Amino acid sequence: MVLNTIRDANFDNKKVVIRVDFNVPIKEGKVTDNTRIKAALPTIKYLLEKGASLVVMSHRGRPNGKKSEEFSMAPIAKEFSTLLGLEVKLAPDVLGPEVAKMVKDLKKGQVLLLENLRFYIEETDNDVEYAKTLASYGDIYVNDAFGTAHRAHASTEGIAHYLPSYAGFLIEKEVKFLDPLLSNPEKPFVAIIGGSKVSSKITVLESLSKTCNTIVIGGGMAYTFLKVQGYNIGKSLLEEDYLDTAKSFLAKAKERGVKVILPLDHVCAATFAEDATPIAVDAPGIEGDLIGMDIGPKTIAAIVAEVKSAKSVVWNGPMGVFEFDAFSEGTKKVALALAECKGITVVGGGDSVAAINKFGLADKVSHVSTGGGASLEFLEGKTLPGIKALEKKMRRIYIAGNWKMNLTPSEGVKLAKELAEAVKGCNAKVMVAPNYVSLPAVVEALKDSDIIVAAQNMNDHLSGAFTGEVSPLMLKDLGVNTVILGHSERRAIYGESNELINKKVLLALAEGMDIVLCIGETLEEREGGKLEEVLTTQVNEGLKSVTVKQMAKITLAYEPVWAIGTGKTASPEDADDAHALVRSKIEKLFNKTVAEETIIQYGGSVKAANVKELMAKENIDGALVGGAALSVANFLPIVAFDK
Ligand code: ADP
Ligand code: MG
Repeated sequence: MVLNTIRDANFDNKKVVIRVDFNVPIKEGKVTDNTRIKAALPTIKYLLEKGASLVVMSHRGRPNGKKSEEFSMAPIAKEFSTLLGLEVKLAPDVLGPEVAKMVKDLKKGQVLLLENLRFYIEETDNDVEYAKTLASYGDIYVNDAFGTAHRAHASTEGIAHYLPSYAGFLIEKEVKFLDPLLSNPEKPFVAIIGGSKVSSKITVLESLSKTCNTIVIGGGMAYTFLKVQGYNIGKSLLEEDYLDTAKSFLAKAKERGVKVILPLDHVCAATFAEDATPIAVDAPGIEGDLIGMDIGPKTIAAIVAEVKSAKSVVWNGPMGVFEFDAFSEGTKKVALALAECKGITVVGGGDSVAAINKFGLADKVSHVSTGGGASLEFLEGKTLPGIKALEKKMRRIYIAGNWKMNLTPSEGVKLAKELAEAVKGCNAKVMVAPNYVSLPAVVEALKDSDIIVAAQNMNDHLSGAFTGEVSPLMLKDLGVNTVILGHSERRAIYGESNELINKKVLLALAEGMDIVLCIGETLEEREGGKLEEVLTTQVNEGLKSVTVKQMAKITLAYEPVWAIGTGKTASPEDADDAHALVRSKIEKLFNKTVAEETIIQYGGSVKAANVKELMAKENIDGALVGGAALSVANFLPIVAFDK
């Protein structure tokens, strides 16, 4: 998993909308624990140092969609300002003209804190309009609130659809430590899972047992597993409904070759109470009415030995009732073992984090995951919507300018030269497609530039009696190695069929050329419910006989033909849906990797005003631009959309 992080973007003179977790405990109008505010400061300071102004947003408590003094961010604004050493303005609301004006007036280096996001139910409903309004407050979105990343809320997920989105340092660190545990941990990898319930930990057990070498099951949930193994467990915690689950988990772990460590001995009590007398039980089984409250010394020794030689360790869930001092030894010794381990050590989960803090060992482990629910869901292998929104598209944005039958050769050269200068330092890959007669001069003008020069069409033969036509050999002779095929105008005006286009595709590939293959539906087709059928046919027939390997040479361009020049518009959501559909067809025809890697440009009137939102979409990887490609003034903002 690779995220877009704040290290990747330019923040100078940018307004940044940043989601933080300032949901801190407050008593009598004062913040009683400012850990979370402090934790966000490195990201905040970094953005300010890089020249941004900040619109900071968070939720506080559960105001359930109602404005109230009780849940105001006012005490937090004060504490935040003190810790930051900078004035923090507090907006009177999240929405409204007054807030909009405060946002508009915000100058470089200034910080504005919005009121509680959950004053509006739209926040947790992930309402589109609410998300759009939040997005309208800035040029860039940063998320540094890992604790809410498992929720698809307007400020954690929705907003990312409308702005370039980046992870702050906190989220970056969480993913850096958690992700390898599930994908590629350093081995030996030991997972230590405890806590009270099998039911709440079974998914994480199953997820971690896919990558770990050893799994330790402790805490209250261990007794259900011991019971399955035929031991008496006295009056210890038991989840009758989970006996089968526990049994099948143990069988699966065995099948996978994962070593399972269950308690070998216990510290018990006659009653579940803080002042109960600890009774040592030196066996896995517990007789009579005793309650297992903690793991015993033999179990501790076994865990310590495993952890000692581990290259990575994750710990979630206490080994006993650590809140009671007499029964906290097992949890404490496990925390110490992690602290002394030379490998990568990660602690996650509300109570486990509380435990490691209680023992003063938090700074002795590699990473303390502060997410609670988010950490658990991550370790369960679930997709966190707030994290997914920040994932780097591995496809590089590709912006193509189709000049169509415009610009004379001399005008084309002039534009090409200006563009060559203007796009320097842009991240996107850039292409221009002049008319045939302009190609030689434009190729010459761009010979020192990274801009690709493409032809708008070619014939399906290498040479022969085809008056007025141009063959791929002629293009290649000029140094033109890229060609647009199947453009909607070629299809509509010159009647090019899928069959002919496929012939051209195969010929261009045989000549080693790169292709931008255009597809798209007309208004009648769309309104007749034929969208899927048309796109499927165009993909299947256009790419017929193309190999998996050759797909690396092909870019697709989806043009909603019906929306071009008709006044009707395709929404970015419509566009992304169509792209997702095309991607699924590519997957069907080739495989998942090809589908993941194929660049799909959008050819529906992309312009400066909508490019950012379009490129933020999951499945849109660039643009095939028509009219807006004919001047630097119009084309540059599209190419440099992320600047
Ligand atoms: P985390 O928050 O770290 O994920 P859990 O919430 O799953 O952990 O479990 C923590 C709780 O489990 C603690 O309150 C602890 O007292 C309880 N617990 C641990 N061992 C036992 C036990 N043997 N019997 C009863 N409760 C236990
Ligand atoms: Mg808990």
